[in-house]
Amino acid sequence: MKRSWGIHTRAIHTGMELEPRDVTPPIHMANTFIFESAEQVAQAFEYEDQPVYTRWGNPTTSVMERKIAALENAEAAVGTASGMAAVAAALLAFLESGDHVVATTGLYSASYHFVTEDLPRYGIRASLAEATDPSSFEAAILPETRVIYLESPGNPTLLMNDITALAALARDRNILTIIDNTFATPINQRPLDMGIDLVVHSVTKYLGGHGDALGGVVAGRAALIENILKGPIRRMGGCISPFNAWLVARGIATLPIRMARHNTNALQIAEWLDTHPVVAWVRYPWHPSHPQFDLAQQQMPGGGGGVVVFELVGGVEAGVHLLNRVELCARTVSLGDVRTLITHPASTTHRSVPREARLRARITDGLVRLAVGLEDVEDIVMDLEQALQ
Ligand code: PLP
Repeated sequence: MKRSWGIHTRAIHTGMELEPRDVTPPIHMANTFIFESAEQVAQAFEYEDQPVYTRWGNPTTSVMERKIAALENAEAAVGTASGMAAVAAALLAFLESGDHVVATTGLYSASYHFVTEDLPRYGIRASLAEATDPSSFEAAILPETRVIYLESPGNPTLLMNDITALAALARDRNILTIIDNTFATPINQRPLDMGIDLVVHSVTKYLGGHGDALGGVVAGRAALIENILKGPIRRMGGCISPFNAWLVARGIATLPIRMARHNTNALQIAEWLDTHPVVAWVRYPWHPSHPQFDLAQQQMPGGGGGVVVFELVGGVEAGVHLLNRVELCARTVSLGDVRTLITHPASTTHRSVPREARLRARITDGLVRLAVGLEDVEDIVMDLEQALQ
């Protein structure tokens, strides 16, 4: 009996373009690809069936793109220079002056600024709808709305969009849906299967997984991906370096196994933090205290992801104190690394945001974001325990 490949096999074997006798794909660090005749050049331009110039496509980049498409159940994917290049390319490919976007609250800060400040400079208006309330998306839709832009779970609030409900709402009105799936990864959540049109990722995070390669990707139907490739990627130039694409493709081979451990380590830490006297509250999609626990179980069947957020009783001062005392956890931004990373947004990334605005964005004084790594969970707990004293 023949079965289709499971997720581990797909992550390892899909999309490889091996040279004879190699076990890993080569890295094509070439800007251009040489042709044997003028006719062959003409054919490549006519049919686009062979690599010509790396900004238009590269065989190493294609390995990463095919792997991600296979994991997201997408027809196609296109690699980008960073997660933000993916967000910008996906939005700019389908919007023009006069259009309107409805975006979720709780977006990653650069995506928030892109949607609310940069798009309006090009005549594209944006409204924000409450992340957890599908009816607020419905209320925000205008006749000019072309795109609904989601991020679930959101960074750093870990609040979720009801993906199936919002995909159905948009489909009925002929509105394109785009979701940032960076936090969940295709191991935990597959938005295209729930009716979303396009998925974007910062592959800098879990897909690459080792903190050594910036990149992004957009995945979805082939016709939509072609629009993004031929428009923003080729003309604005945000393509990924083949070397970074190779590192990300290598990282993807272990993505399912890494995510399984990120999921269990993070859940265990959320449970431990929940009982700690200096922790006011914990939020983690798979922890029963999450206000959308049931939704998480439905739309993130693979697990709750690697990020846990919690609020310290002592506010900003307690956050600074904790960060100064950790020894194993790395004090830095980002997430999705093999090692545990810890951030206190109020004293760092959101330091310049007025307190009122920061609280409105649900970035409270003592909020800590822990991007749980793959270390022994007892060692992470031991480090947090001594630092929280
Ligand atoms: N989307 C999310 C959810 C993120 O957390 C980030 C970065 O932290 C980005 C997009 C942007 O990714 P990059 O830093 O690769 O541009």
